[in-house]
Amino acid sequence: MNTPSHGTEKTLDPADWQAMRALGHRMVDDMMEYLETLRDRPVWQPIPDRVRARFGSPVPEAPEGAESAYDDFVENVLPYPHGNLHPRAWGWVNGQGTPFGALADFVASVMNTNAHGGDNAASLVEAQVITWFKDLLGFPSDASGLLLSGGSMANLVGLAIALNVKAEVDVQQVGLAAAPRRMVLYASSQTHLSVTKAVRLLGLGADALRVIPVDERFQIDLVALNEALASDRAAGFHPFCVVGNLGTVNTGAVDDLTALANLAARERLWFHVDGAFGALAALSPELRGMTAGMERADSLAFDPHKWMYMPIDVGCVLVRDAEHHRNTFAVKADYLTQLPGGPSATPNWFSDFGIQLSRRFSALKVWMSLKEHGAGKYRALIAQNVEHARYLARLIDESPHLELLAPMALNVVCFRFAPVGAEVESLDELNERLLVRLQESGVATPSHTVINGRFALRVANTNHRTRAEDFDVLVSEVVRLGHALILERRGAVCSTP
Ligand SMILES: *Cc1c(COP(=O)(O)O)cnc(C)c1O
Repeated sequence: MNTPSHGTEKTLDPADWQAMRALGHRMVDDMMEYLETLRDRPVWQPIPDRVRARFGSPVPEAPEGAESAYDDFVENVLPYPHGNLHPRAWGWVNGQGTPFGALADFVASVMNTNAHGGDNAASLVEAQVITWFKDLLGFPSDASGLLLSGGSMANLVGLAIALNVKAEVDVQQVGLAAAPRRMVLYASSQTHLSVTKAVRLLGLGADALRVIPVDERFQIDLVALNEALASDRAAGFHPFCVVGNLGTVNTGAVDDLTALANLAARERLWFHVDGAFGALAALSPELRGMTAGMERADSLAFDPHKWMYMPIDVGCVLVRDAEHHRNTFAVKADYLTQLPGGPSATPNWFSDFGIQLSRRFSALKVWMSLKEHGAGKYRALIAQNVEHARYLARLIDESPHLELLAPMALNVVCFRFAPVGAEVESLDELNERLLVRLQESGVATPSHTVINGRFALRVANTNHRTRAEDFDVLVSEVVRLGHALILERRGAVCSTP
């Protein structure tokens, strides 16, 4: 048998700590400079073919070294971001992160805590963060919660608990196939795709999700919901859950959550609320009223990485009944029992409340950011985002060239270029071309959706860097590009022989 050599073992730690420290300082300096000067750069820019081609290189066998890897990042990755950091980024629903949040993520990575639980300070940090969220959002103190990657996972966890609690058989033991009646749940046509994904993954089948129409404000139609429920009961189905939307992804609409809570209580349904971004409106005293009924949810999904601007990723689920929550996920194993002392001496394992075992220490950036700014700053920023969105809606209303496509709700504005008097064959096509050109110009990145069959430019303002003047820029650019596109089209038509 060979004896391992002593003192010449390999490790991934640097041979030269001083050099690594110097590189680390340079990286921090570069990143802070990058964030400080964001406004001077395009929101987004296309990746040149030359750069794109670099990502086809094979796995490096020999070391290139840390400095070279970092230089490669600076040259070929950093200049081509998703774009969500910039003051004029309003696409989809994205936060921007913060400088200190990024540093918190860095130190979390240094600690490299496995946040599955155990007797360590990271567990205390996460437990405290969840307590804070319960307080901020009006959940009872004995509710449970879990940080996870985002709203999609939070919706999956919430619906998994609903299924386990409401099934007429022991689903964990015998599976859904043994259920005497087909289980069905209800949500509006505006519900996020992650709910569909969750329903599929839980083995319910997408048909189990009864898609209920919305009214002209894009809120779930309660009459249609009651009818669907009654007809499902009459036909022998087993209704088990209703999903309320607190801020739909398309238009920011908020369902009548109080009515849904009442209906859930009366019909013995699990009440899940998808408040991915909208739930956080409750932080603002002026907006809190819009979230009424949320606090009655059995489970609530929301995303600190959206409307609390935390670095991606961090989502959260709160669950009214902690036992239901734990029973859905906890599995006993010899290698994960509690000993009377040492790192395993704690009854609370986060891994008993979700799907992941090894977990990133995401709680740290939440904890450090809330300490850095205080909740008051978040309350004010969320209110500012809504005020700015209202300002944008007013600019659109006042412009003869623009048209709102949906009533503005929360922080989402859907509109299009529709100039009076201009003869345009297809406003959908024109607006699509306009949006691509606007995005590629690097000036601003709204995203898009379809509202009542019409292509819409969509602004979701969860941006802590936006100033009111950024919306002046957006409006004037949309109008300018729209007219330019019409002229180009005419030119093209005239020059055709
Ligand atoms: C973003 C979003 C989700 C999904 O959240 P992720 O963090 O992206 O997984 C779910 N519902 C709504 C309404 C959303 O806006």
